[in-house]
Parts: sequence; structure tokens; C-alpha cells
Amino acid sequence: MKNKQQFKNKHVLVLGLAKSGEAASRLLYRLGANVTVNDAKPIEENPQARDLQSIGIKVVCGSHPLTLLDEPVDFIVKNPGIPYTNPIVEEALKRNISIVTEVELASKISEAEMIAITGSNGKTTTTTLIVEMLKNSGKEPLIAGNIGTVACEVAEKATTQNIIVTELSSFQLQGTEEFHPKVAVLLNLFDAHLDYHGTKEAYGHAKARIFANLDTDDFYVINVDDEYVVKLAEGVKGVKVPFSVTKEVLSGAYVKDNIVYFKEEKIIDRVDITLPGKHNLENILAAIAAAKSMGARTEQIVEVLKTFTGVEHRVQYVKTLNDRKFYNDSKATNILAAQAAVAAFSEPVILLAGGLDRGNSFDAFIPSLKKVKAVITFGETKEKINLAAKEAGVKIIDSVLNVEEAVPVAYDLSEPGDVILLSPACASWDQYKTFEQRGEKFIQAVEQLMQR
Ligand code: ADP
Repeated sequence: MKNKQQFKNKHVLVLGLAKSGEAASRLLYRLGANVTVNDAKPIEENPQARDLQSIGIKVVCGSHPLTLLDEPVDFIVKNPGIPYTNPIVEEALKRNISIVTEVELASKISEAEMIAITGSNGKTTTTTLIVEMLKNSGKEPLIAGNIGTVACEVAEKATTQNIIVTELSSFQLQGTEEFHPKVAVLLNLFDAHLDYHGTKEAYGHAKARIFANLDTDDFYVINVDDEYVVKLAEGVKGVKVPFSVTKEVLSGAYVKDNIVYFKEEKIIDRVDITLPGKHNLENILAAIAAAKSMGARTEQIVEVLKTFTGVEHRVQYVKTLNDRKFYNDSKATNILAAQAAVAAFSEPVILLAGGLDRGNSFDAFIPSLKKVKAVITFGETKEKINLAAKEAGVKIIDSVLNVEEAVPVAYDLSEPGDVILLSPACASWDQYKTFEQRGEKFIQAVEQLMQR
């Protein structure tokens, strides 16, 4: 039994609310901790904070006063989005106060074993696949985290009859100390989130936290086609379960003669898999390796692979209009993701790209841009993508403001047989609240076009 009494009378400062901060505050309060919540948003605009206050939790809103650290603080639960350069975080570090994210709490109280998935791209798809594959395996899988309910809330209710499957960002992993999954999956690593982590090394280091507490009977599932992943997994304790789309890794998941195998057992013919793209094949191999390590049945895995058509906003098929197919890949918030999406099509592609500028160049995007028929750019990164597209020698249209305006322009430019793909290679926050909203706007614009 995990000790749920461990937080009783502890003084905990929860920094930053959002969904995970609220769940952590409520959980700690239920478990008898003295909780103080500190959120930057003023109390008048902060219904979440007012709700917590109404149940007796101390709330300080509007700024992050350093004086909060003069009161007793045993540890801090930090929202993953708050950077380590925030003055209160810097000060807490100076004072050697432990700073964790909400997933650390989940790991500390969970009776259920956990499968944790990280990587620059493919986390949600792989997580969803694993959950589906584990159904009917004897233990009930529970999805937690980014998609679904906050991990610590799921962990509080989970029993030994469950398996918690959760995707983790580098921001979440950086705030872990004893986080201990039964299976740790690292899919790939790309220069992402450098605005937060500073360097690729720091980013990789945060991702590698997923392996930090594995025991010899735990599993680590790694993409052995990705050199940096292999490097980060050097010296990890546990049973290595590799996956590869290029090599026959007999101790893991691989493809041979267009058949997918796990440890020499045939799983499925590639032609029977519904999810498109090589990138999804990687996600599938990772999911098989993780699910099989936890006792998933082959029949269930095959059933999932024959029927699963993908998660919303991830190379999601939208509609066909006069023989032009529209795909929504709004979740492609970095170059690697958009590259994977472009590579998934053999048809001519008209690409819609652009969004939040994180400071990176788009040189790495040039090979993909060479493959598309035309690119329509918008958002903060418009000029940067135009530069890369010029280098690639591809037709550029940059007269539109946003995704909605780009859709009819793309259609007018297209010919029968073309694919019109929103795969922005950038986050959405310069023009949209979320990537989901950007994807919805794309879908709505396609529907309006159908009416036209
Ligand atoms: P994440 O949760 O890591 O953001 P998703 O499964 O939501 O990953 O996929 C996001 C986007 O990343 C997809 O739309 C696709 O374009 C791309 N993608 C998915 N899997 C991979 C992969 N294994 N390698 C490269 N790109 C990928």
C-alpha cells in the first residue's frame, strides 16, 4: 500500500493553477496538507482560485511575492508552464526547497503501475494506442494527463487492478524526483521547447528523467533509430525493449518484409494497419512494445491496429471536395511533426503553415518544403517560413492573415488529386487560444468552402 498519509500536515505551496494545479491543491488538501495556492491572475478574474478559497485553501493571487517563501514550505508543486527563471522559482531553488510537478504526486500515491510516454512528437497517439491495446488484458487501463483527467486525480482512485497510461512533457518531467513508472517510453528527440530549456542538452536531460528511478524489473522502450534517444538511455536500469522501423531488433518491435513483429511473433501485416505514415508506424511499434510488456493480448492489438484511424488534429482526415482531400494536422507544433505529416502523403500537397515564433530558424524544414506543391504562410513565423520556402524553390502565398483565409486560397490553387494539409510547424498561440481551436477553424473553413 502506498502511504497516502505522507502529506498530512506538510506545508505545500502550489504555484500556478490551471487544471493540474487545481487538482494537486484539492488532492493535497484532502490528504491533510496545509496548502497555499499562488497564481499570477488576480482573484477577481480567477474563479478557480475563488473556488479553492471557498473550501478553505489559502490563496494568494495577482503576483508571485517572494515573501511566500518566508513561511514554512516543505515543497512546491509547480505548474509545468512556469519557467525556472521565474523569480520565485529561482529563489526557492536557492533555498533548496524541493520543486515538483503534479505527476510526482501521482507517482507517490498510485497503487496502480504506470506506463509513461515521452518524446518530442507522437506522445498522444502512442498513449491512446497503448490504452486501447491494453483493454481486455486483465487489468483496466486508465488514461491520465494531457488527454483525460489530471494524473494525480486518476492516481488517487486507481487500484492495483489498473494500469495508468500517461504522456509526459519535458516540463513535467523536469519537476520529478522519485517518479517511477513500470514502463518508460522515449519516442524521439528534436530541438523543441528551446525557449524554455535553453539547450537541446537541457531538454534531453529533462526527458531522460523518465528513466531515473527504474528498477531492474521495469521496462524502458526506446526508439533505437534515434541516436540521441539511444545516448540518453545509456546505463539505464531495467529491461530494454527497443523498437525500430529500419532494423530487426529481435528483443523488441520491428518490421520485416512488411510484417510487424514483436520478439519474433508476427503481429500484423502492414497493409492491414489503418493509421497512415511512417511516423505512425514508429508510434505503433512503441505502443506494441509497451503494451506487450504489460501483458496485452495480440488479438486485441491487431483489432486496434485494424480500426484505429488516429486522434483528432493529428493528420486527421477532414473531407474531400472535388477530388481534393483536406487534412487537419493542427497539432504539428514543430518542424519534425510537420515533416512527418508531409512525408505521409504521396499526393501533391498544398501546405498551410505558420504560427508562434519560438526563435528557431526553419532551415530544417527546407527538405519538406521541397516536396510540397505550394506553401501558404501566416502568423508570426510567416517571413521565416517564406525564407525557407524561397530556398526550397517552392511557390509561396503569403497574402492571407490566418488559417481560415488560407483554406479558400488553397482550394483555388489546387487541382484534382491534391492534398490540402494544415500542418503549421508552429504553436498556435500567436493567433489562436489552442491548437484545437486552430484545427476547428480549419475544419469550419473547409465546411464553408463546401457550401460555396
Ligand atoms: P504529441 O502528443 O507528442 O504532440 P501527437 O501524437 O499529438 O504527439 O502528434 C502530434 C503531431 O506530431 C502529429 O500531428 C504528427 O504530425 C507528428 N507526429 C506524430 N508522431 C510522430 C513521430 N513518431 N515522429 C514524428 N512526428 C510525429
